[in-house]
Amino acid sequence: MYNMRCIGVLTSGGDAPGMNAAIRAVTRTAMFNGLQVKGILRGYKGLITDEIVTFQTESVSNIINHGGTILKTARCLEFRTPEGRRQAYDTLMRHQIDGLVVIGGDGTFTGARLLAQEYNYPIVGVPGTIDNDLYGTDTTIGYDTALNTIVSAVDKIRDTAASHERLFLVEVMGRDAGFLALNGAIAVGAEAALIPEIATEEDQLERLIQNGFHKMKNSSIVLVSESDATGGAMGVAQRLKEKGYDPHVTILGHIQRGGSPTANDRILASRCGVAAVDALLDEQRSIMIGIMNNKIVHVPFTDAIKDEKPVDKHLFDVLRLLCI
Ligand code: ATP
Repeated sequence: MYNMRCIGVLTSGGDAPGMNAAIRAVTRTAMFNGLQVKGILRGYKGLITDEIVTFQTESVSNIINHGGTILKTARCLEFRTPEGRRQAYDTLMRHQIDGLVVIGGDGTFTGARLLAQEYNYPIVGVPGTIDNDLYGTDTTIGYDTALNTIVSAVDKIRDTAASHERLFLVEVMGRDAGFLALNGAIAVGAEAALIPEIATEEDQLERLIQNGFHKMKNSSIVLVSESDATGGAMGVAQRLKEKGYDPHVTILGHIQRGGSPTANDRILASRCGVAAVDALLDEQRSIMIGIMNNKIVHVPFTDAIKDEKPVDKHLFDVLRLLCI
């Protein structure tokens, strides 16, 4: 084992339920191995502005059940520049932090890869984003909780949609990834899902309107990914209005980011957090920890960032078959 005495941990990019469980797992595993742990506040911003706290075991007590992140998170423009990363590295050296665990999404790993490369510095990533858009892990921390939030919200919308015999377009998060919309649609028994990766709007809405809405069902729910490709729920509504329909739009928004993490997210975060510290101690660097087929995997940052995680097209068949 090489001489690692202190590690830092930070959360960066969009917050995701389960990040606290990951911070806890990193902290406790490091302490179990005799390492000191420093929490860096506000992601990469805290590395530049020197906002660092020394953790004790109790610093992470009673946080596994809380959404958000006790370390706060931020989007940091300066870190995108070589000068910003030099300041970040200087802070790490000043605080004698020998290795770093970064919890975040692809932007976070892009920054981590650059810092690691420029200063030959050990960094391991833990996938934390509700979008589930990282290659190399079956799911990301926060995705399952967001999916469950969508399900409970859309179940309520279904009650009112059915009572008034309405067509609802529900916009969900995911940026350029359709995992939340497509799996959410299956889980709520929606009539269609419009996602950025696969252009099926004409096809799905035509089928929905001709075969479902008005003829056999008293309400219809369509889940729409927020994204330029779909135009979001407002964009779809506009196009449907031009065809003479009167859809109602609900944008779920930031409730999808909050709430107590599900058991699945807590377990995923705990396993990834433990594996991240193990990897640092094992002299691994510039990798993201993932879980594929229920096994821990090490994915180079370059692959996690570069490779697209494909949506399973067969899920559309499941959706189509079950909403007849
Ligand atoms: P989410 O998917 O939830 O939005 P993310 O990690 O992708 O999470 P970003 O805002 O894209 O979120 O990135 C987080 C931070 O990583 C940025 O604020 C920035 O400091 C750093 N970062 C992102 N892209 C780069 C880059 N190309 N070079 C250096 N640093 C970057």
